[in-house]
Amino acid sequence: MQTLTDKLIKKDLQHIWHPCSQMMDYEDLKPIIIKKGEGVNLYSYEDKKYIDVVSSWWCNLLGHCNKRINNAIKEQLDTLEHVIFANFSHIKAIELCDELTKVLPKGLEKFCFTDNGSSAVEAAMKMSFQYHYQTGNPQKTRFMALTDAYHGETIGALSVGGVDLYSEIYKPVLLDIIRIQGPDCYRCPYGKNCQNCDAQCIEYAEKDFEKYGSQTCAIVIEPLVQAAAGMKIYSPVYLKKLRQLCDKYNVHLIADEIATGYGRTGKMFACDHADISPDIMCLSKGLTGGYMPMALAVTTKKIYDAFYAPYLEGKAFMHSHTYSGNPLACAAACEVLKILKEENILENAAKNAIYFNKIIKEKFSSHKNVGDIRSIGLINAIELVEDKSTKKPLDSSKRTGYQIYKEALKKGVILRPLGDVIYFNPPLIIQKEDMDYVTDVAFECMVKILG
Ligand SMILES: *Cc1c(COP(=O)(O)O)cnc(C)c1O
Repeated sequence: MQTLTDKLIKKDLQHIWHPCSQMMDYEDLKPIIIKKGEGVNLYSYEDKKYIDVVSSWWCNLLGHCNKRINNAIKEQLDTLEHVIFANFSHIKAIELCDELTKVLPKGLEKFCFTDNGSSAVEAAMKMSFQYHYQTGNPQKTRFMALTDAYHGETIGALSVGGVDLYSEIYKPVLLDIIRIQGPDCYRCPYGKNCQNCDAQCIEYAEKDFEKYGSQTCAIVIEPLVQAAAGMKIYSPVYLKKLRQLCDKYNVHLIADEIATGYGRTGKMFACDHADISPDIMCLSKGLTGGYMPMALAVTTKKIYDAFYAPYLEGKAFMHSHTYSGNPLACAAACEVLKILKEENILENAAKNAIYFNKIIKEKFSSHKNVGDIRSIGLINAIELVEDKSTKKPLDSSKRTGYQIYKEALKKGVILRPLGDVIYFNPPLIIQKEDMDYVTDVAFECMVKILG
């Protein structure tokens, strides 16, 4: 007899082109049809439980079906579902910006709404270019970005990205980016570690700023954690120095905090670790608690003012998305900020983060293939290598990370490694017993595959 799940899988595979997937892999590993979510758990139709330690692609911040966010959206739903955002506004958008201004780095106070992370990056890039164009620097037409960067999948965002897996094939249609060699702390060429270094690797950026600064609008970066590249973590000193370079060459600093924002690194924003303010900050993922697709490009009054002029001067920022400022998303986002504050989420997560990192180090450190264990906030990543002493990567064609992922799924843990980097990036509300369980499972599965 065919179960409901069998029927759903069949229909799924008949129609759905899943994101970031080789669909042929699904012949072996079928899509898992989720019926409901609760806290850090997801449940299939057979009531099999999966612990979502990747926060459903890093967006679920406060657990699935969080009562308070559910209610906030329900209430909004019966009041106003959507309204054109040009010339119209609504209370939740206003409240959100007002509250966010209080927690954002100093000076960020003008909010441009988009509806996904990539489009926030696009908006930030356009905004920066147009700012320079309208302030007497039309020669500034290029963008800088770091090696191993990830900023999304649309053409502009993909251009600033530097992970070949996603962008290589599209190179002929991408923008010509100034690619700066970024920090690489595990394989640091200066033999330092990022806890106590002076970010000597900024010298690559210094050279490129000197050479190309005058033609550059902005540098787009992921502050402190290059997440998609394998949770690569670098020093706040690097950020501080980059801020100084940007000031010196009149280049905007665009901080893509789509993955790092909202407490993921232990502070509200990764930029807070370096005590810097970017010129534009992009937010999404945690913004609505992982409920609704929404994103922001937040900027300064200085940038905003360069667009403020009589209509016929043609200086307006003519950027829009149909769902800009969607009220349901704004209602969720407002409630997320309230929960963070009222339930001391960051303080509790910081305490749990110490425990999480401790047990991961205890369990994994001595394994022959564990090259690096890095952590910031509740983010913990384990880089698997062929040889610990030379740091030689595993043969990627063996897809070790993917094999471990499949094993862990059987035991009800969603790991989804990045290549051969196993990582945990759980909802901030994860508790110790789940930490114990997911790290045990991850370790067992790693041993099963690697010995
Ligand atoms: C996820 C992500 C994006 C893209 O956001 P989407 O909503 O998937 O378009 C951009 N930058 C970073 C750092 C991300 O992690």
